[in-house]
Amino acid sequence: MSWRDTMCGELTAADVGRRVTVAGWADTRRDHGGLVFVDLRDYTGKVQLVVNPERSKQAAEEAHDVRNEFVLQAEGEVVARAPEAVNPNLPTGQIEVQVDTLRIVSRSTPLPFQLDEENVDETLRLRYRWLDMRTERMQRNLRISHVAVAAIRRRMDELGFIDIWTPSMTKGTPEGARDFLVPVRLQPGNFFALAQSPQLFKQLCMVGGMDRYYQIATCWRDEDLRADRQFEFRQLDLEMSFVEREDVLDVLEQCVVASFEALGREPPPRPFPRLQFADVMLRYGSDKPDLRFGLEIQDATEITRTSKFGVFAGAPVVRYLVAPRAFSRAELGRLEEIAKEWGAKGLAYLVNDGGEVRSPIAKFLSEDELAAFTGEPNTTTLFAAADEATVARVLGGLRTHLGRELDLADRETDSFAWTLDFPLFEHHEESEGWTFVHHPFTAPVAGDEHRIESDPGGVLGQHYDLIWNGWELGSGSIRIHEAERQEAVFRVMGMGAGEQEAKFKFLLDALRMGAPPHGGFAMGIERFVALLAGEPDIRQVIPFPKVASGSDPLTGAPTPMPDSVLKELGIKSAVEEGAITRPV
Ligand code: ASP
Repeated sequence: MSWRDTMCGELTAADVGRRVTVAGWADTRRDHGGLVFVDLRDYTGKVQLVVNPERSKQAAEEAHDVRNEFVLQAEGEVVARAPEAVNPNLPTGQIEVQVDTLRIVSRSTPLPFQLDEENVDETLRLRYRWLDMRTERMQRNLRISHVAVAAIRRRMDELGFIDIWTPSMTKGTPEGARDFLVPVRLQPGNFFALAQSPQLFKQLCMVGGMDRYYQIATCWRDEDLRADRQFEFRQLDLEMSFVEREDVLDVLEQCVVASFEALGREPPPRPFPRLQFADVMLRYGSDKPDLRFGLEIQDATEITRTSKFGVFAGAPVVRYLVAPRAFSRAELGRLEEIAKEWGAKGLAYLVNDGGEVRSPIAKFLSEDELAAFTGEPNTTTLFAAADEATVARVLGGLRTHLGRELDLADRETDSFAWTLDFPLFEHHEESEGWTFVHHPFTAPVAGDEHRIESDPGGVLGQHYDLIWNGWELGSGSIRIHEAERQEAVFRVMGMGAGEQEAKFKFLLDALRMGAPPHGGFAMGIERFVALLAGEPDIRQVIPFPKVASGSDPLTGAPTPMPDSVLKELGIKSAVEEGAITRPV
């Protein structure tokens, strides 16, 4: 006997008269005093089982015990439903299975939540993820993930990329996050770092003549968890030899298109728009703007040089946004808080309330200034006056917030774009020196090489980001393939010869032994899939994610370890036992 010979969701009117065996979960059970109806569910859908005591006494007795989420096996005949019983909302709604034999294969304790319940607390869903996975939402999301990854793998294969495994336990890879460390029993006092990405290994594969590498790689980064961040995530990681930037971008665009096509969706038109970093920072205050709405930042620096409003006259840069709504005081208070979170000292504004201007700063502004900045009736002009970077951050943050709050984005469109020409270095927040913008292996743009050490702030990098609807899907770059240039970049970052040797000797050695020009990219799989699935955060497309505190509600990890275990690993916890907190 086989468990099943037919899938629940595949039965149609064409099957009427067939004898079938189906197996799955009891989605719902309705007892009509005598007749019992059970919707039986497997991953393909649901079918209605009808248990009639006059047809089968055995099935009727067994059906009596059935509760939601019991696993059942039923054998019977497919019959057409009476016209008044046809359910047009169910793909199998024209038929039902008249059961001859029913078997309870597996029982369930009372459920912590019903599968069709809305707004179930997320921690509860994660605690019982195996139940949550049975919902249509999770079934759909994990299958979208599979289809996209399969399409990407196919396309990579067609394009001549080979899948090469790289180690998870390695030396820290500088991707800008903290490392997760792994103590080593055989070498007490020494630690591996979990790879923040396979960056250096994939470059070494190029030096090794592998030509085109890819991997759906798991990466580990110790960062605060957010809607688009988890401690561990996967990326489509790739590297190519003898290429220019456009060759790399082309591969990524092909993968995006292949995923859309595999999901039966209209792919975004190619080539994706190419944007300049400097330009998007000016217009949108962000290197990953959501381009599905305008709300562009405008400059007021020129006009306000002679302003009577001291805050404007004294600021290095003054810019503003005109939001399509006359905000109330309370709303402006909330916007001011957001502006402060992004580094503003306050939020100056002009509200055009149906033609009448409301603003505490209007009395300081000249006629010209008022005429230039006041928007159409029922708009609010929001200003930021500070240094260039702060102004971009504040207005960029407000723009993103308003886009969401006022629902400005056109949901019917998908906006893919590339941001190009990032600076190679930026000022380090803590030290006075320079740090990398992407990672230290990015090559400068042609012509800027000689300025690496003399004018680091003016050097542009061959770095590119892929953005979709305001999310950064991934980054890549053309790499440095000359050891001397790599050393110069390390020096700009304040790394002397000794430190270079200690941290990156293997890379510098490799670059000295015939390194081809190369470049690559990494695209976050979970971010991509979350957007494909229309989900607001990546947890909804990850089978077993962690919550914001960093815990896994399902297993309860992470957990304290006994001293004996730590001792064997050569480590000692600095946290007193009583002080260990266990947030969920
Ligand atoms: N290693 C980079 C990252 O993980 C991607 C790349 O430059 O290829 O973001």
